[in-house]
Amino acid sequence: MALIVAKFGGTSVASPERIKMVALRLIRMKQAGDHPVAVVSAMGKTTDELVGLAKALSNNPPAREMDRLLSTGEQVSMTLLAMAIEAMGHRAMSFTGRQAGIFTDTEHSKAKITLVHAGRITGAVADGIIPVIAGFQGVDKDEDVTTLGRGGSDTTAVAVAYGIGADVCEIYSDVDGVYSADPRVAPRARKLDVVNYDDMLELSSSGAGVLQSRAVEFARKYGVVIHSRSAFSDAPGTLVKEADPEMEQAVITGIAHDTSEVKVTIRDAQDRPGIAARVFSALANNNVNVDMIIQNISEDGRTDISFTCPAADLGRASGTIEGILEKVGAREYSVDENIAKVSVVGTGMKSTPGVTGRAFSALADNNVNILLISTSPIRLSVVVSADQGELAVRCLHTAFGLDSESIFEEKMLSAEELAAKKSKGR
Ligand code: ADP
Ligand code: ASP
Ligand code: MG
Repeated sequence: MALIVAKFGGTSVASPERIKMVALRLIRMKQAGDHPVAVVSAMGKTTDELVGLAKALSNNPPAREMDRLLSTGEQVSMTLLAMAIEAMGHRAMSFTGRQAGIFTDTEHSKAKITLVHAGRITGAVADGIIPVIAGFQGVDKDEDVTTLGRGGSDTTAVAVAYGIGADVCEIYSDVDGVYSADPRVAPRARKLDVVNYDDMLELSSSGAGVLQSRAVEFARKYGVVIHSRSAFSDAPGTLVKEADPEMEQAVITGIAHDTSEVKVTIRDAQDRPGIAARVFSALANNNVNVDMIIQNISEDGRTDISFTCPAADLGRASGTIEGILEKVGAREYSVDENIAKVSVVGTGMKSTPGVTGRAFSALADNNVNILLISTSPIRLSVVVSADQGELAVRCLHTAFGLDSESIFEEKMLSAEELAAKKSKGR
């Protein structure tokens, strides 16, 4: 008898038929003697459509109203799933983030969960009811609705699993686990049976969208085991958990890519102490999330400084740079929106020299030009032009011996969904 949090992503609840499949799966769990607690995302592309509606009316919608709007997507799917379960003769009740006792800080659109009051959910479970919780949302101290960042239903699931003391947190999506690269980009990617928290966090924060990085961070902090698996099959997926000596440890766990960043270059800035501090303090003050930075070798006391940041921060970044361009004695700045960041990730890297050399050789052999480089003890990232991003993923995957014999096969996705997946993040 296990207490199981089961989270279903947008594709898994995209239509009434799919919602019925989810309802059946939850009922089967209950019939097997387990206690499922469901967490759902908004149906299909609902969140994107809501964002589109807001943009049609305002260039800069108030953050409070935006979160209120986006939270409704999950509130539709939670009620429909509860209705579907009831229609099949079992008891279910839907709960908004507030009703499920999820409290957050006040950072609209990227709120952090501060507290889960799980009494109402555990009470429902004790009464034999299947609770269905709206993902991606909570309330702040003023009871205003907040959202947890795109993909945030994963974080709801992990937080609820912790809050109710679940045995496992199952995250169902349209792939059957975490692969050594996005299998839609590298069809020879292999499914991983187990990934440790550190590798998963690095993969997720480098763009592997299969699990939201906040969710992995939360899971690592509180020791919640995540099982990433397919909503369309019963095959076991990938366990994300603390590293243990039994785990097989390859040098490289996987390759991640991210097409959601842009590169900004400030040209001919003065090369003297204090300039970089001025640029990056101004960016931080305007809430620009700077990722990679490179400063060219100085000539005649002048230098170019490039940095990357999320495309979503570009408006603020440009405004900031325009405001300080003269103060740092720079001539001009330029923006490159067509970039991809590709990262090689593995905790095994710490103790194995030669990863950088092998990665650069593989890229060079395939004529991939590197624009920026950054490293951490368990990650090597390069920025390349967007049109070389997928090639870079595939050649690095091959170079590190990660290719599988078999080719990834799609299950249950419509042609339209497949096309949407392929262009995601661009
Ligand atoms: P959901 O909507 O259910 O939350 P997502 O679309 O957020 O699902 O996540 C699943 C997608 O993540 C897959 O369709 C896949 O294309 C993408 N993905 C990116 N990197 C990986 C990876 N390393 N392993 C598996 N899937 C990945
Ligand atoms: N619906 C939200 C999104 O599209 C949250 C989620 O799906 O996890 O980002
Ligand atoms: Mg997701």
